Amino acid sequence: MSFNILLEKLKEQNRPAEDLELIKKAYDFAARAHEGQKRKSGEPFINHPLSTAVKLTEMRLDSKTIAAALLHDTIEDHPEFETELKKIFGEEIAFLVDGVTKLNKIKYKGSQRTAESLRKMFLAIGEDIRIVLLKLVDRTHNMETLQYLPADKQKRIATETLEIYAPLAYRLGMKKLSGQLEDLAFPYVLPERYEWLSKITSDKFPEWTKYMEKIKPVLIMELARDEVKFASITSRIKHLYSLYKKLLKYDLDISKITDIVALRVIVYTLEDCYAALGVVHKLWRPVPGKIRDYIALPKPNGYKSLHTTVFGPEDNMFEVQIRTVEMHQEAEYGIAAHWAYTEFKKERPKDYAERQASFLNQKRFAWLDQIREWQKDVESPDEFLEALKIDFFKARIFVLSPKGDVIDLPEGATPIDFAYHIHTDLGSSATGSKVNGKMVSLDHQLKTGDVVEILIQKGKKPSIDWLKFVKSTQARKKISSVLKKLTESKKFEKKGGEMVEIRLTAKDRFGLLHDVTYVFTKQKINMKNVTTDNKSKSYPAIIIQTVLKNRGELEKIMVRLKEVKGVMEVSYKLL
Ligand code: MN
Repeated sequence: MSFNILLEKLKEQNRPAEDLELIKKAYDFAARAHEGQKRKSGEPFINHPLSTAVKLTEMRLDSKTIAAALLHDTIEDHPEFETELKKIFGEEIAFLVDGVTKLNKIKYKGSQRTAESLRKMFLAIGEDIRIVLLKLVDRTHNMETLQYLPADKQKRIATETLEIYAPLAYRLGMKKLSGQLEDLAFPYVLPERYEWLSKITSDKFPEWTKYMEKIKPVLIMELARDEVKFASITSRIKHLYSLYKKLLKYDLDISKITDIVALRVIVYTLEDCYAALGVVHKLWRPVPGKIRDYIALPKPNGYKSLHTTVFGPEDNMFEVQIRTVEMHQEAEYGIAAHWAYTEFKKERPKDYAERQASFLNQKRFAWLDQIREWQKDVESPDEFLEALKIDFFKARIFVLSPKGDVIDLPEGATPIDFAYHIHTDLGSSATGSKVNGKMVSLDHQLKTGDVVEILIQKGKKPSIDWLKFVKSTQARKKISSVLKKLTESKKFEKKGGEMVEIRLTAKDRFGLLHDVTYVFTKQKINMKNVTTDNKSKSYPAIIIQTVLKNRGELEKIMVRLKEVKGVMEVSYKLL
């Protein structure tokens, strides 16, 4: 692939000269950074960022995003270029590249529960929606070249694509991209199902296409007769994976699916949508209950269109979708359509700058709307619960372990919260922390997307000061419990022994007291005093006072006592 392909596309869109210059500069920088580097396919590495940039250009994204697309893998592969990149391209582009680099560190290990929080994390990291778009398109190209990777990687990446990326694209209203991602992942994730479905459909697709081509002129003529202007009429075949999902709802019986092929009528005005629907129904009888007005009632992800299924010639059912050019753009590109640069031609450079400024304001806005839509997009009770939890997620941050595991913590959490979340020992022996490779203090406030590393020293003890800054209840509890144990051990050490009162609740039975005292005699520990508390008849409490040499002895006794048949609870206090 050559840079000219990208350049041609940019010129077609009449992008201003300064934009072309910026993109060329980004290309040169990337070409230098990736010099000599090859993809697994053997082709030069630069083809990957170049393909990503071309796809984003086709989506009509702004020139900074396209520049960032060209640069998106440079920092990950060559961290030494970071300062230079910022100097040449400025904060905004550096920020986009950095966002993509951060997202690259996330690995999905395949559980439904984490899938949802991963998607949310994606959005949280991609503070700027363009980072998410860039990442989605980056993944699309990686999926297109997945055949060159080893089988286990293929499966992991394809599963991640199907469970994280495609649904994310869909929720952002990018139907086209989400369909592409699904179809690219399908053969790797469910190879047998894919084989089966391709076999069934490969015979039928040409047949269906032929049928639609026969129908098309009939509709065109009738629209002309009624003077309904249209921009285009195309037939579309359902994406294979989305057909598969639908088949699952219909016992895998393909004869029950009526929208495998559809005619898509794109008109210019809202009125013409309804006029065209009238024409369609005049020609072919509608199937009752299959008329959907998604213009009056858009789908949760913003999709607008009129759908109807009709009985066509030879008693075949097919679907017709009618929408305006804008609705179509929106349906194909979703949130990216809000970003699309149009009407370049008429604008003078000054207007362009103003437009860009207003764009930056708009982006946050559109973004918030999308989140709100997302909250409305609830299909199952589980999803509904998830949506209710959105507040919970608002107060959470998502950080990464050096291995790429996602850890979610309350806002304001510190490396100590992170460490205790992973393991008590890791927390207690923490001496320092690195965030994104840089040393920070243990009370440093973490941010979403941070990669957190804990430095430890064996035998180190937690500090009581940590309780002043930790944010998670989990860390707080663990620190307190470790500290309590430590103080007790000290007490034991000081006097060489400590008077302890052990209290146990047990289900009363014959021989209970004997079994309890046996624990002590076996350990060669003398009991100073034994009393029973019979306030509860079936669950008497036995209170034992004894002198123990050290904390280890106490722990051992506690464990043994818990093992005695009928014992429900054991607690202790130092007297
Ligand atoms: Mn990449």
